[in-house]
Amino acid sequence: MTTDIHQRSRDDKPRVIRAVVFDLDDTLYAERDYALSGFAAVAQAFAGTLGDPETCRLRMCQLFDSEHRRRVFNQLLREMGLKEDDKLITRMIKTYRSHKPTIALSEHADAALSRLKGRYKLGVISDGFLDAQSAKIEALGLHERMDEIIITDELGREFWKPHTRAFECMSERLGVEPSACAYVADNPAKDFIAPRKLGWRTIQILQKDGIYWDQDAPDGGAPDFVISCLDRLEDCLG
Ligand SMILES: [Mg+2]
Repeated sequence: MTTDIHQRSRDDKPRVIRAVVFDLDDTLYAERDYALSGFAAVAQAFAGTLGDPETCRLRMCQLFDSEHRRRVFNQLLREMGLKEDDKLITRMIKTYRSHKPTIALSEHADAALSRLKGRYKLGVISDGFLDAQSAKIEALGLHERMDEIIITDELGREFWKPHTRAFECMSERLGVEPSACAYVADNPAKDFIAPRKLGWRTIQILQKDGIYWDQDAPDGGAPDFVISCLDRLEDCLG
């Protein structure tokens, strides 16, 4: 993996960064691992209807890697000759979102958090459904490693990114002015609009195995820096 830093815009004057806030999915761990973990949970929980859990799990993984990524459960039921039963799909989704995931911080994220601890205030701002994101945060042990964690869903669906509310709350809770905050995330389509509006520094981690790395940034949503590995994060904080 290359570790080149692409700087897309430059601050007019040097700023001291005192808080580093991270997105969760595909920034601190591989979101694909969460999906695969969820499929295993669903296959086990619905074995009575879906049959052999391992066969079912493998097929869901294949569907996730195909054009059916956004409708894995629907496609699975269709292929199994089961009609698309809305109630069954709702229960499968509930199991998926509430399962206890088997996921781990990426090696580079783990190392970066250890390096930054004590030198910067650390936080997480994550979109996504509250139950699912809470379970991920628990599984990753992030309460012990972060000063503040905000799941935007706690504030209300209308405050998901790109709303600025979570970023304003984070800055206040950490006691760090917006210009001294940095946000590290993977998805240019939605992650950098709000922090840029508030004057935060923005850093994209380019996860080529990630789900959203190739999204286009809307006007005003391009990151200040793009890095391909969190090993280079401090180069963007000086
Ligand atoms: Mg993400």
